[in-house]
Amino acid sequence: MWQWRARCETVAAMQRERWRVVAWCEACRSAFPVDLAKVARLKGPQSSLWNRRQPCLRQGCAGQMRFEATIPGLYGRRVLDAQDPATVPPRPTLGELAARNRQKPD
Ligand SMILES: [Zn+2]
Repeated sequence: MWQWRARCETVAAMQRERWRVVAWCEACRSAFPVDLAKVARLKGPQSSLWNRRQPCLRQGCAGQMRFEATIPGLYGRRVLDAQDPATVPPRPTLGELAARNRQKPD
């Protein structure tokens, strides 16, 4: 998912790409639609929903909600958990892979 995070880190970017986001409780399995415009207004358009947990909105439920997105062009909902794209090591180039294979003992 980190590629998607790289593309849509912020609430503003998710709005631009027309993501639909729900907060989903792991305990009671309630889902609440997230109003991205409202989040942008309250927390700022540069705020992020990645790797966030929120207390469940349902009264009496002690569960934690996580965020899931419906991304145009992708089937199903994706959990908004991903490592920071800045910390993902770059993929080895073909040349590096070939060098690694040559070093393998037979
Ligand atoms: Zn709940």
